[in-house]
This record gives sequence, structure tokens and C-alpha cells, in this order.
Amino acid sequence: MTRRMMVAGNWKMNGSAAAVDRFAEEISTAVDGLAAQLLICPPAVYIERLGRQVSGVAVAVGAQNVAAEREPGAFTGETSGEMVVDAGATYAIVGHSERRALYGETDQVVATKANAAAAAGLVPIICVGETLEQREAGQAEAVLAAQLDALFDHADQDTLSIAVIAYEPIWAIGTGHSATPDQAQEIHAFIRSHIRDRNATMAESVQLLYGGSVKPDNAAALFAGADVDGALVGGASLKADSFLDIARAAG
Ligand code: PEP
Repeated sequence: MTRRMMVAGNWKMNGSAAAVDRFAEEISTAVDGLAAQLLICPPAVYIERLGRQVSGVAVAVGAQNVAAEREPGAFTGETSGEMVVDAGATYAIVGHSERRALYGETDQVVATKANAAAAAGLVPIICVGETLEQREAGQAEAVLAAQLDALFDHADQDTLSIAVIAYEPIWAIGTGHSATPDQAQEIHAFIRSHIRDRNATMAESVQLLYGGSVKPDNAAALFAGADVDGALVGGASLKADSFLDIARAAG
């Protein structure tokens, strides 16, 4: 099966109204003819602004997180899937390692959030990845298998059938030390084969993104991996020119 390449930007808690406007202007004229699906996930308050400015342009807008709760209620500070859909989001990242490490999101919470996102009509981009310690102890595959098994145990079939999975080794995020193309491909092949044991159809169709210090100068080599279907990009997605260079490397 040919899977479409995807390049998704995660702005984290960066940006401003002026930065959104500048990015939208720079990207709008430059994406024509690019084959990859493009997505930017700005801070939630800028989803609507960015979406308005790239409407008619082949760039989707997504959220970096959604509430686990689906119904409105007394959840101060939370933003539901339905709310980000109202703002124009079509995707939501869930289970980013920063959410897991800084905000205590467990595998079960991540699955619940993925379900909430999908129920609201969003495509969840579910992040998995191992720490440096775990990799050095030879536990990377076991850690990923456990994260994936928890997803299969707690996420709905409807959620999994549309989900994108992002492999983001924690040691590569924001460090400038990307996984090598071989390391990324090896783990992506492992993830796909682990998924195949649970759901053969999903294994073939699911887009597996690599994330962790993807830059214009390493993107093409990473994308050459047969099981690498694109990238989730942090730092290099903040500027339109580097994001576009990565998008061009994806075809
Ligand atoms: C990320 O935050 O998802 C990420 C991959 O960041 P960076 O590209 O900056 O390593």
C-alpha cells in the first residue's frame, strides 16, 4: 500500500499573533505542488487565526493536546476536542512526551484523549517513544510495545483506524541529535510489525511519523526509510522556510 507522506509541525508554547501571520503569508504561496500532507499545530489560541489565513491553502491546522473529557463541565483550563474543531482544527497531537513527562499523562490517559479527539472528529496523532536510559538498556522495543499494547487495550477501534502514530525518541527531541535513518527505519518497522500482530489492516495503512530533531538537512535521508511516512517537527517548524524545506524532502 502506498501511504501518503505527512509533515506535521508542533509549535509547542511558541509563537504570537505576528508570528502566525508571518508564517501563514510565507507558506501560502509556497506549498503548491507539494505532495505531502502538511499540518501545523500552533498553541490552541492561534488555531483559528492560522486556519483562517491558510484556508484554501493545502495546510491543515491541528491542536497539540485535547482534554480527556468529552462533555462540557467544570474542567478549568481544559479545551475539548469539539472546541478545537470549532476553531478549525482537523488533527490533534496526543501523548507528546512533554505531556507525559511534565503533566503526568499515562498510557491510559493518552488512549482516552485519543478517543476523545476521534469522537470530536479529529485525527489523533499519537506519540510514543523511549528515553535514552531505556534505549541504552536495550529496552526501546519493549517500551514501545508496551505503549502500543496500552493503546490497543484502551483506544476504540474507530480511533485506531484513523490514527497517525509518531515515533519520537525522547533523547532526540529538541536535542539536535536525531535518530539515524537506520535507527528510525528499524524502529518504524518494529512498530508496524507490532501493530500487524493486533490489526493487519491498520498496520498497512497507518502513517508512522518520525519526530526528534528533524531538520532540512536530515529529512530526506530519514524519509528514505520504507516505514517512515513523514515527520513530526518541533523547532524546525517554527520558521516557514525550514518547514517548507522538510516538506519538499517528503515529496
Ligand atoms: C517535537 O516536539 O515533537 C519534536 C520532534 O521537536 P524537535 O523537532 O524540536 O526535536
